[in-house]
Amino acid sequence: MKAIRGAITVPADTPEEIRGAVKCLLNGIRQKNNISPDDIVCIMFSSTADITSFYPAKAARECGFVCPLFSSLEPPVSGSLPLCIRVMVLAETEVAVPVYLRGAAALRKDITEMLVVALDGPAGSGKSTAARNLAKALDILYLDTGAMYRACALACVRSGVDVSDENAVRAVMDKLDLKVEYRGGRQLTLLGGEDVSEEIRRPEISQLASEVSALGCVRSAMVAMQRKIASGMSCVLDGRDIGTNVLPDAKYKFFVTASDEVRAKRRYEENRARGYEAVFEDILRDIRERDKRDSERAVAPLKCADDAVIVDTSDMTPEEVVQFIMNKIQEKV
Ligand code: C5P
Repeated sequence: MKAIRGAITVPADTPEEIRGAVKCLLNGIRQKNNISPDDIVCIMFSSTADITSFYPAKAARECGFVCPLFSSLEPPVSGSLPLCIRVMVLAETEVAVPVYLRGAAALRKDITEMLVVALDGPAGSGKSTAARNLAKALDILYLDTGAMYRACALACVRSGVDVSDENAVRAVMDKLDLKVEYRGGRQLTLLGGEDVSEEIRRPEISQLASEVSALGCVRSAMVAMQRKIASGMSCVLDGRDIGTNVLPDAKYKFFVTASDEVRAKRRYEENRARGYEAVFEDILRDIRERDKRDSERAVAPLKCADDAVIVDTSDMTPEEVVQFIMNKIQEKV
């Protein structure tokens, strides 16, 4: 049995809004955790003290939940969201995926832990896919830090700057207008306001990103941006140095890896699907070169943090990778 947590806000303290919110929250929990009403042992609600018109337990009963139900009001907590309903569902399940809806994750800042997951690993290890799927399953933000270095490389190309000239790269960084936005659950990378999310995936940008990311002036700017984003919300970050350098205090760290051949094969298929010309041997060579440069650079090299869990994805499906990581997070919560 597991305890599944969740929360939701309501726009107004009315029976209709509370009924709608409870329905949405409990259905979300059922879907995300793949459980049926029979798996639910009991449901406990607590609401902020400004919810007075209707008990969430009453709403749950009206929605057809027949298990034991319980509702209580919370004492006022400074900084907590108004009009918020929290829930704890005890259910027969292996994994418990929390569900926070309508901005309710920050309900009780005094006791709610922010969930920050660091996924590091080499190119093609499957970490981006894992990070994206994990963030989706946990309903939290995914920050692809590689995209940020790629955007820096593209900015250099567009300025006609040779990335081996650190002074010239520094001048590009001083003027860099890079923004990361989220639309429809997807990260958009904006350079000078232009969406470059697709363009930065070009194979030549991969190599240049690896080169610029070794420069201190590039790293310090990107790491500051990444720390700022991660300090404000629950998120999954993937990169090379998240667990070792960007967020060394992250509670959940994973090092995602796979054999060179498997990684090259994945990139080969990815490039072909994007319509880029691809020769397997060239990709394998590029991947090895990139690994070498990323691991041997002086500033924040690619390295497994001492406290990271290693995930070898060579023989795993993307679903198995996410399940494995979720189980490990669950063990530590
Ligand atoms: O992960 P992705 O292939 O998009 O990253 C592109 C390059 O950016 C990597 O080869 C690596 O050199 C660099 N990078 C980094 N630190 C990160 C993320 C990416 O140095 N946190």
